[in-house]
Amino acid sequence: MTSGTRHEPLEAVLLGELARLDSLGMRRRLRTLASAQGAEVVLDGRPVVNFSSNDYLGLAKEEFLAEEFCRAARDFGVGSGSSRLISGTQTPHRKLEESLAAFKELPAAVVFGSGHTTAIGTIPALVGSGDVVILDKLAHACLVDGARLSGAAMRVFAHNRTDVLDAHLRWARRVHPTARVLVVTESVFSMDGDLAPLEEIVRLKDEHGAWLLLDEAHGLGVVGAGGRGLAHALGLSDRVEIHMGTLGKAAGVAGGYIAGRQALADFLINKSRGFIFSTAMPAAQTAAARAAIEWLGTSAGRDRVAALESNRQVFAALCPGLLSGPPPAAIVPVIVGEESRALELSARCLDAGAFIPPVRFPAVPKGSARLRLTLTATHTREHLALAADILSSADIAKNQAGFRMSQ
Ligand SMILES: *Cc1c(COP(=O)(O)O)cnc(C)c1O
Repeated sequence: MTSGTRHEPLEAVLLGELARLDSLGMRRRLRTLASAQGAEVVLDGRPVVNFSSNDYLGLAKEEFLAEEFCRAARDFGVGSGSSRLISGTQTPHRKLEESLAAFKELPAAVVFGSGHTTAIGTIPALVGSGDVVILDKLAHACLVDGARLSGAAMRVFAHNRTDVLDAHLRWARRVHPTARVLVVTESVFSMDGDLAPLEEIVRLKDEHGAWLLLDEAHGLGVVGAGGRGLAHALGLSDRVEIHMGTLGKAAGVAGGYIAGRQALADFLINKSRGFIFSTAMPAAQTAAARAAIEWLGTSAGRDRVAALESNRQVFAALCPGLLSGPPPAAIVPVIVGEESRALELSARCLDAGAFIPPVRFPAVPKGSARLRLTLTATHTREHLALAADILSSADIAKNQAGFRMSQ
């Protein structure tokens, strides 16, 4: 540093950056819910129908899960006291892992504090410098962060383009013949709601001796009979090396997991920094998540997953201009282009009583800002009709020359 150089104070730098975000329609602010998560919420003081939540099955405020949470808090306390490896693993953690593995019909599972921690804790444990990670272009930020953190060479393939994936796999095998090669994708894409062509991806990674990490964050509880996810639905579970997911979406609580072979779980417990160097999640959270997973396997759980599927069909029938058939999962993106346009349309939806959040860069590429609806099992027909009416109302339609579904 040159002596005498004047540096701007931190606050001036931050305020300047915030003003820039504001001018681009990209500034975010927190909105406060004065209610539990659900199909109807009180948002910034007013009741609205909620199309923003990943609580796909309405479990976030389910009474029996709240009771389970309280019971475990009384029995095990509110904090876990240390990381899982030191003394933070309590009976509920083990039980959750058993239930998850059973539900996924896989040998083992290991849970982390969040899905995000799961990704950044797992990818760098499996690959490092000299190795290769190949990701779908639309992979979630935490998967990208995990890949970057690993120090492996990174290649990105155009969304769901298995021909490009194939080319990258060939490149990896040519340039790094002895490297570990990890393919990373999602079963249901979080901002587009479409599915990965999993059969072809599995075939390709097997052909080239690569491994596959499949993030089922939006597939668990949604896709396949009983909501066991896309890999299970296609009979491919055994061929996916690393199954990842979150307990914060359809499972209604919070936390993340990896499922697969016992060796994978044992390895991550030894090598994942996100697992090793972080306090275990509270037993109450763990117990509630376990109850949710167990419940998913009951007939009531299967009925709830089926109710969501039925709502997907109902919504598609109500919105023929937007959807040509039921969405493959529970996410419906309405791409509008400019960031400011998404903000304006979302504000109009809110005025009409529906919270349909805008999604902007960096969650999606610049210029592909969108409204993103999530459908849940607990939306009523009236709720769905309200969203359909608002989206097709003349007022919005006039302004939506660029409206399109991404699929
Ligand atoms: C939400 C999400 C995550 C992160 O999970 P959290 O439990 O919310 O941290 C990871 N991957 C995808 C695809 C997601 O949508």
